[in-house]
Amino acid sequence: MAVRRNRSLRPAPVAGRHLDDGHRLSRYADRVAVRCHRCDAPGWVLADWRPYQWTARFRCGNCSVVMDSTAGDWAGPVHYSGRRPCGYCGHQWVCACVSGKPGQPAPTVVPGLCPQCGRSSEVSVSGQRVRDGEANDPHFGLALLLVEPTRAGVLWAYNADHLQALQDYVVSPLRERAGVSNGSMFSRLPGWMKLGRNRAMMRKAIERLLVKARHDQRS
Ligand SMILES: [Zn+2]
Ligand SMILES: [Zn+2]
Repeated sequence: MAVRRNRSLRPAPVAGRHLDDGHRLSRYADRVAVRCHRCDAPGWVLADWRPYQWTARFRCGNCSVVMDSTAGDWAGPVHYSGRRPCGYCGHQWVCACVSGKPGQPAPTVVPGLCPQCGRSSEVSVSGQRVRDGEANDPHFGLALLLVEPTRAGVLWAYNADHLQALQDYVVSPLRERAGVSNGSMFSRLPGWMKLGRNRAMMRKAIERLLVKARHDQRS
């Protein structure tokens, strides 16, 4: 049976050429495959973009834990930092920072060493959610489901559409950008993903994740 393609719907792609249209990672953030932070079961974070913020929700089908962005829920990494003048010599500044672990009490003061006199002062710190942490969902910081460690780095994706976009990019020997800003998803990929020598390895890793994504979509 002959297959007819409808070419009128979108501009004909040039064979072997990938065109970066400038879309951001957030295009894929409305449906994020994650693991529950309480029981590790796979599930979905579903999110709506209404200018100018996301409303997101997660409900675990296994343990029924619920996360809601309107309640400020967060289960991901938090970075605590602060600064003060040295308590001994007055040097500005004594800085302190520490990474918070999910489930542990938030630190309020952290010792910081003075770069001038070398003595330690207590520094008040405040926390900031790490939203661009590797392999975390951007809404609640949950661990992503679609994660594949490779010898070059960790490959991760929010969902099957995201994987497909990465696949299209990886298999193209020619990559072009159409007046694109630095915020585009493709321009922000780590360097190892852009290397031709990693193409075959990435392709296999993405295919493994696509199988996983299709399997979890059914369940
Ligand atoms: Zn759960
Ligand atoms: Zn000092």
